[in-house]
Amino acid sequence: MAYTGNPSPTETSEQMGAFSGYIRRPTPSASGMTAQIFGENGDDADTILALSLSKYQDAEVFVNIYLVKDSVGKIMKDGDKYPLIASFVGFVRRSMPKKDGMIAQFFAPNGEHSDSISVLSRSDFQDCLVFVDVRGKKAMSDQDKIEQENMQEINLHYADRITKNEKSEFARKEKSFRKMNEILELSDFLSRIEVMTSIGNVEEYKDWLIKTQTCSHLQEKPCLNHSHVIQVPSLIKPFNFMPVCDEHFKDLESEKHIEENSLYYEMKHRLILKHWVWTRFKEKFSYDGKSEPDPSRIIEWAASKNIAKYLPSKYQAII
Ligand SMILES: [Zn+2]
Repeated sequence: MAYTGNPSPTETSEQMGAFSGYIRRPTPSASGMTAQIFGENGDDADTILALSLSKYQDAEVFVNIYLVKDSVGKIMKDGDKYPLIASFVGFVRRSMPKKDGMIAQFFAPNGEHSDSISVLSRSDFQDCLVFVDVRGKKAMSDQDKIEQENMQEINLHYADRITKNEKSEFARKEKSFRKMNEILELSDFLSRIEVMTSIGNVEEYKDWLIKTQTCSHLQEKPCLNHSHVIQVPSLIKPFNFMPVCDEHFKDLESEKHIEENSLYYEMKHRLILKHWVWTRFKEKFSYDGKSEPDPSRIIEWAASKNIAKYLPSKYQAII
């Protein structure tokens, strides 16, 4: 949630801003303690910047910090709640720009509030993903309601965030994933009907065709017209649908046209299906839904669907 522009920040219990970020060690000074949370470029850094600008700078605010994931990406939910690890009244200090984002700073003078910030210096908290809720001071009298609102917001927008360590771990492994997945792509696994029916259904396939594929009509230069789908009886059932535009609908409807060009249409259909299966694998088995799928997750899934026997024998998990 971004900057709300409330005219009298401390005289309210409203949320002024909320963001997710990574814990950095708080900095002590003679008069108190400054909490530091790093938010990545995008919504998080934007919210941090907005908070520290104009009237919010040096405003006294009520800050609640919840632990969402530990530094290796494990969800820290305890029962149905994310633990509140720091809660204090402090002052918004100017945010610090970094290469990849922005550090939010909240200062609390010596006393119980700076003690709450000190907790954030624990070694096992460094680089943990947290949700930071910033409100007017009046919110202190309504902590149950705040907690409820915050749990909802975390579940909706922040629980799926990926920690930096998770990201770098995946980046490190991606090359080995790719190498292993080449074995899969060269095998017949992705083209097996058992695999197709386990990874999705016909309706999902048709939806994907309409959203992503261009017309499959046979011609020298591919037809790039917007497509809908047509059922072609001679192709592999139940996925015997092809993308086609209005202009070429008649051709794909014609048994004669398909029969005369059966080699092309069968091949084209296989390629499209394989592409669909691979897209689904990326969505389900990669860390962000679009990168290289993790072989260990594919193997686990195949076992759960009783189709692991179709995997090539050289296909193994990357540790
Ligand atoms: Zn066309």
